[in-house]
Amino acid sequence: MNGESRYYTYKTYLMNTYGKSAYRIGVDGGFSCPNRNSNGLGGCSYCDETGAVAVYHRHKEASEARQPYKGKLPGYEPPENFQNKTLPERKEQIKNQIMQAKKFLTSRYGAKLFMLYFQAFSGTYDQPAVLRDLYDFALNIMDFKELIVSTRPDCLDVEKISLLAEYHDRVEDVWVELGLQSGINTTLERINRGHTVEQFVAAFHLLRKSGIKISIHLILGLPGEKYEEISKTAELITKLHPEAVKIHNLHIPNHTQMLSEYSRGELLVPSTARHLSYTTWFLERIPEDIIIQRLTCDTPRHRLAAPRLFKKKGEFISQLGKMMVNNNLHQGKCLQEGFQDDVVKEVVV
Ligand code: SF4
Repeated sequence: MNGESRYYTYKTYLMNTYGKSAYRIGVDGGFSCPNRNSNGLGGCSYCDETGAVAVYHRHKEASEARQPYKGKLPGYEPPENFQNKTLPERKEQIKNQIMQAKKFLTSRYGAKLFMLYFQAFSGTYDQPAVLRDLYDFALNIMDFKELIVSTRPDCLDVEKISLLAEYHDRVEDVWVELGLQSGINTTLERINRGHTVEQFVAAFHLLRKSGIKISIHLILGLPGEKYEEISKTAELITKLHPEAVKIHNLHIPNHTQMLSEYSRGELLVPSTARHLSYTTWFLERIPEDIIIQRLTCDTPRHRLAAPRLFKKKGEFISQLGKMMVNNNLHQGKCLQEGFQDDVVKEVVV
């Protein structure tokens, strides 16, 4: 087995499903997030104002995103604001984003298959009629294989889930990406997620009943968490058995609550080596048929306060593969072979 076949990569899943690569078109639909609004006390402590807007839509940042750190953090410039727009304005911006992304993905990668991805903030945080209007509008712009919506457990209910499930008639798959980050309530409280593990599980089961595929977002190395806590989160993931997970290393963007904690010396941020170790630890403890859609964060370097020396995505993936081969690790190993005391925790490349 080579490095990437040691875990179930998203690329493998897409090739098996469509016979070729399919590309996400990330869209900011002008949604907000209940956790960032007045009662949310400013949102998750690691959240800055971009709410995961795709980098190719942050025009002012595009040229800076690939630049190295220059010795000081630049002043923060908020992204173009897609929120507080009228419905026609939101539609116009959705259309522009789709056309721009299609052009970029086609010229850069020769992309032929596309998936519509409501990526920014909470893509179900609106009235069902508005959601229907926006999803319909976007899906009519061009041919999409999948509808993918990123959201929070407290932004889903039976009516919204039924609406999402209706799109099975129009696309090959409907996915919801649901933020959990950790399976431990004290951690969720500490990072101000604004929901509990139990609320997450309830939303997960509602989605599962509707046939919608689910990808769970997780962060490894959150404040107060090490191997034991990651094992507990892996246990929950194993029980729930989503179709996919998206793993994220702990990162601290500029202008976040977490940066203040970090500046006061109240928390540590995992290095590349530590995230490699956490990642393999986690992968060994989840079923081998769960798709791994992401392994590290994509925050542009000029917005990232820490970690500053984290390896680029490609290098991380290559190192992870080598580490798994050299130590004979693979996704699901602990579930198949029992839990071993001698599981490697440090990088051996
Ligand atoms: S749920 Fe997402 S958008 Fe909302 S505060 Fe947390 S990280 Fe930010």
